Amino acid sequence: MDDKVLVTRSSMPPFEEYVEMIRPLWESHWLTNMGTYHKQLEVELKKYLGVPQISLMVNGHMALELTIQAMGFPEGSEIITTPFTFISTTHAIIRNKLVPVFCDIKLSDYTIDEDKIEELITEKTVAILPVHVYGNVCNVKKIQDIADKYNLKVIYDAAHAFGEKIQDTGIGNLGDASIFSFHATKVYNTIEGGAVAFRDENLYKKLYNLKNFGIRSEEIVAEVGANAKMNEFSAAMGLCNLKHLQQNILARKDRIEYYIDRLSGIEEIKLPDFRNAEITYTYGYFPIMFNAEKCGKKMRNYVYDQLRLQNIFSRKYFYPITADAACFKNKYKKVPLENARYAGDNILVLPLYPELEYEALNEIVKSIKKFIKN
Ligand SMILES: *Cc1c(COP(=O)(O)O)cnc(C)c1O
Repeated sequence: MDDKVLVTRSSMPPFEEYVEMIRPLWESHWLTNMGTYHKQLEVELKKYLGVPQISLMVNGHMALELTIQAMGFPEGSEIITTPFTFISTTHAIIRNKLVPVFCDIKLSDYTIDEDKIEELITEKTVAILPVHVYGNVCNVKKIQDIADKYNLKVIYDAAHAFGEKIQDTGIGNLGDASIFSFHATKVYNTIEGGAVAFRDENLYKKLYNLKNFGIRSEEIVAEVGANAKMNEFSAAMGLCNLKHLQQNILARKDRIEYYIDRLSGIEEIKLPDFRNAEITYTYGYFPIMFNAEKCGKKMRNYVYDQLRLQNIFSRKYFYPITADAACFKNKYKKVPLENARYAGDNILVLPLYPELEYEALNEIVKSIKKFIKN
């Protein structure tokens, strides 16, 4: 390809639309600290996601970190989580002085294996932190049953599942809280940004304080908070992008259908499955998994390298799994993580964004077929 094709590309509204949106900021001089757009975006997102409460944040990571903090777990408590995720999920636990207990995943959809959670529960366990990875919805019923049985909190990292629905229920209604990321590279962006969705009204107040230094009133600082407020320029971007979201999701869907049409039936690769009729997908990612038994352990890396030579940048997402990250390798409880490591070694996320050219898609498909044959 003449121009680089990256794995994703940030969606942006028409320039004039954004400029019109931010013009009033030059009159008000109110740029952050829960301004007009911040309030407006909370209302709009509550509607869009169909959730009772939402708290906007500066990014998805702080949304997760402060949600965990807000739950007030004792230092050293354990949280059962998946290692097959973006490093943020694990960092958020550790930065709260808590201990991640990694649980293996299922190779069918790469989410936490709900049948392996119970055996990891100890007296120190306080919560489960699953991830709807690539937009694949976890086994939420089973996870909630376990949480109820052992009196655990459930916090979903829903960064990959923005806007998804199960039957008619927004994905943000599950567990005690769900966090979303509005990073530039996600399905929906506010440049940088994130949010927490939940039911409990008290959590709204707690998060409001925590994202503003723990300041409760002019003279009372009640907690050790952070600065995690979303600014007005980001909120304005979010309000603009929301108007084009549905169209972008449909453009993603078209491209996914193109991939699936042309790559299905190849026995060396497993394609993502978007056929669950109960789920409304938002088509964030297109991960393919190479079957190492059929095409060798090196195929994923080979295809990644070869595509790079053609100016096409796919991603080994997630490699390494977070349990194997240099900063905490071997530090936490050793649990067999065979499936997670297999997925980490054999999955390649292919380029996908609303404006991705069909010429590029064709090139990617042709190349993958050629590499597998040789
Ligand atoms: C993007 C992402 C995050 C972090 O969100 P940021 O907005 O980048 O801070 C957390 N978890 C997962 C699974 C993500 O993909």
